[in-house]
Amino acid sequence: MLIDYDMPLWRPPSEADSFILQATLGCSFNHCSFCSMYRTKTFAVRPLDQVQADIRAVAPAYPGVRRVFLADGDALAAPTEHLLAILATLRAAFPRLERASSYALPANLLKKSVEELAQLRESGLTLLYYGMETGSADLLKRITKGATPEAMITGLNKAKEAGLRVSATVILGLGGQTYWREHIDATTDLVNQVELDYLSTLQLMIDPSIHDEFHRKFREPFQPQDDHALLAEQIRLIERLNPPAPLVFRSNHASNALALAGELPRDRERLLAQLQLALAGAVQLRPEWLRGY
Ligand code: SF4
Repeated sequence: MLIDYDMPLWRPPSEADSFILQATLGCSFNHCSFCSMYRTKTFAVRPLDQVQADIRAVAPAYPGVRRVFLADGDALAAPTEHLLAILATLRAAFPRLERASSYALPANLLKKSVEELAQLRESGLTLLYYGMETGSADLLKRITKGATPEAMITGLNKAKEAGLRVSATVILGLGGQTYWREHIDATTDLVNQVELDYLSTLQLMIDPSIHDEFHRKFREPFQPQDDHALLAEQIRLIERLNPPAPLVFRSNHASNALALAGELPRDRERLLAQLQLALAGAVQLRPEWLRGY
């Protein structure tokens, strides 16, 4: 390996072929009750010389790199000047670079000005992966997301104004059996108010190491949804989505029982037909042992 990564290392499924560059370590928030990804790490902005050394280590072997994903959990938390310096080094090292991307927390978008976000976009950071999880104010508190629907609308509008593309994720099953309708309805209400480029669904999977914490913070007994109930959530979600601009919809993440892909609202009927077939047992669901994060 050319780079000595600080493990664990995570990336979105669509960045499988990208150069993964750790601009930061861990997650600047790290308190979501359902997420164990960075529990073993303390958040830090990596020194510029270390990040640049990683770029220099990779560039001679892979000069044709077109896509870079800035890890870890929210590289956007780093100071704008720092990110601009990293992006400049990347552009110099990889002449064919087409895009850089990173995860973005709701708080990251609130902290940066539209001008800063536009500067980053002009420098090559053009795509943000955004964990929306749910649009329900109540569930956002129960999962200790540290965000409100209103704050998410403000931040996502800033990203759009800056010309950034946003790929948001929603977690099916997050309301359990008690709040699934509230979860889906509030989520579609939120998505229908903001311009997203991509929307993906994941299925809730709680790592055993945070099982107790998740249940305690939920504040009442949490009854998980089964696969069929999650398909019903997906159906309600797709039926109610009416985004202000067309968006690419996917459930291709490894946590999903059924992989879907299309554009909404254009492909609504086809996606719903696929889901109805799966509900009727005519389409095989991904076996549980093949699912993961
Ligand atoms: S879900 Fe995102 S914001 Fe929340 S702890 Fe995990 S990485 Fe951090």
